Amino acid sequence: MVVKNLFLCVFTFTLWLNIGFAQGFFPSIPPDSVRLHIAFPAEGDTLNSNRVRYAGSALPTAKVWVQGIETKVYPSGAFVGLASLDEGINAIDFRVEDTLGSLRESLIVFRKPERKTFAEIPTAVDPDGMKPASDVYLSHRDKLEVEFWGSPGGQAIFSIDKIAKNVQMMEMPGKSSNSGSGHYKGLVVIPNLIEYKPKEIKFKFRGKNGRRIKFRSAGKVNILSPVLPLIGVTIDSINLILTKPDGEIWMVLPAGIKIEIIARQNAVSKVRLAEGIVGFTASKNLRILPPGTPFPSASIGSIGTLENSNWVKIRVNVSHKVPFEIQQILDPAALEVTFFRSRLAPQWIMYPRDDETIRTISWRQESSEEFVLRIELNQKQQWGYLGRYIGKQFWLNIRKAPVLSTQPDSTLKKVIITIDPGHGGKFEGAVSATGLFEKEVNLQYAARVAGLLRAEGAAVFMTRTQDTTMTLRSRIDAARAVNSHIFISLHNNSIGASTNPLRTRGASTYYTVPQSQEIAKDIYHRLLDLGLEPFGRVSSTYYVTRQTDLISLIVEAAFMTHPEDEMLLLDNEFLDEMAAAVAAGIKDFVVKQTPNRDKPEIPKLW
Ligand SMILES: [Zn+2]
Repeated sequence: MVVKNLFLCVFTFTLWLNIGFAQGFFPSIPPDSVRLHIAFPAEGDTLNSNRVRYAGSALPTAKVWVQGIETKVYPSGAFVGLASLDEGINAIDFRVEDTLGSLRESLIVFRKPERKTFAEIPTAVDPDGMKPASDVYLSHRDKLEVEFWGSPGGQAIFSIDKIAKNVQMMEMPGKSSNSGSGHYKGLVVIPNLIEYKPKEIKFKFRGKNGRRIKFRSAGKVNILSPVLPLIGVTIDSINLILTKPDGEIWMVLPAGIKIEIIARQNAVSKVRLAEGIVGFTASKNLRILPPGTPFPSASIGSIGTLENSNWVKIRVNVSHKVPFEIQQILDPAALEVTFFRSRLAPQWIMYPRDDETIRTISWRQESSEEFVLRIELNQKQQWGYLGRYIGKQFWLNIRKAPVLSTQPDSTLKKVIITIDPGHGGKFEGAVSATGLFEKEVNLQYAARVAGLLRAEGAAVFMTRTQDTTMTLRSRIDAARAVNSHIFISLHNNSIGASTNPLRTRGASTYYTVPQSQEIAKDIYHRLLDLGLEPFGRVSSTYYVTRQTDLISLIVEAAFMTHPEDEMLLLDNEFLDEMAAAVAAGIKDFVVKQTPNRDKPEIPKLW
């Protein structure tokens, strides 16, 4: 499981026959009582959907009914499926019959009711569902959307001083075609206003019975001055700039970068990086600077290079810390750094003539506000980069390729690999139907992967060798501390609370930075060779895969939540094969990077 740590409590229901077994003790093999363990959902869970998956286990020979319908029991004893939910309180009924008797248990879960619809008459509105709910900051030409909930079939208008007068709102259609939903929406485009005192939105609503209600928004509309721009500075060490308010991650900015804010709505700020280039970030990431703070802009000065045994470092003198974006290009291998609101001051560039890493450094003024530095590389495979400000200098560190061994018996010598068994300690990860913890499976196969890589000469570091609680950041920091070339986080997957557990299974690998694409492919192919279903080689973004200074990826070998995948994960021999496949994928990748070497036939598996 990648996305979140499920804080699931696994309620292992140890239930006893009420005849003949007076004292309780843990079931052992052979069992002497009817067995029923429910792993998911947990008693008291609240769900937002009309169905919930269930997962549990019984004796492999048992018969199990859920909500009165018989469900398949797998040879592991696992049973999974979907139960439908009504709004409010639901009791999910489990019944098991095995050679020792029968047992019935029910589990209470809660489904959140949908928004209560108002009666058409008497006329009413909901004071809580109004938008905007808090102050908004907008600029000329921005769109402001307003909405509220009330009795269906009414008519609504809104006004904002100097911005909108009696603008008609539309009622969204209801579930049945002949009734409205009672959800009213309106839109206005902000006109050009030089000075504006914050004002509320005034709504007027007339219900079907002719009753009129007037009310005002809780938040006020503020118009940002085109003369005195609103400037914010990033405060966190990691600030994500998104392409849309709920869109993809576009760039990651460090602390101390000044950005022009052009709108603020619903805890999201719209920022302008350069003329015509806008992105979105959480408002809490930005501290507003006093009015009159000048626009962020910079002139780019001289450029030079330094190097040590692991890195080539490009130093760029920059007059101010401006937002920047780094793009990695695979073919031809290059890095491009765009500095926004920046111009070149006539200077010089110095770099070593016969550098093994850097081929050329060039620049262009992409537009009047975008300065682009382009570094073409001699490395076919890139191994990492890190762009950051140190004082008034911008440094782009480019990781040198490891000097790979050409000896066939020590292919991985000089390669430093961090193996990260996902989750651990209080972060349990996914839990399977029979109660297997992902954190435990991850640790088991990770240790085997590490052993295989060491046998090939790699320097291997494990982020944890025990059931330790660790943050994602501390895992990456640990990899950095040993100067890792490759960071691999090993997991097993799971599905959400309302997904069909029998539909989703198989292997997947995840990467974000282009340099990690090749190894993600190699490991994925090796996992598929084992017979695991193809779930996908995914370009996506997670904390550990977003790191640019090393090759980083996540491997999700199989699904904890699929009963057949789970049986594989319960099998020690399969864990050996899975570990061998991951290690073989890493080796495939490294072998391809070895220069001037007669590439041996890659064995199918170790
Ligand atoms: Zn996981």
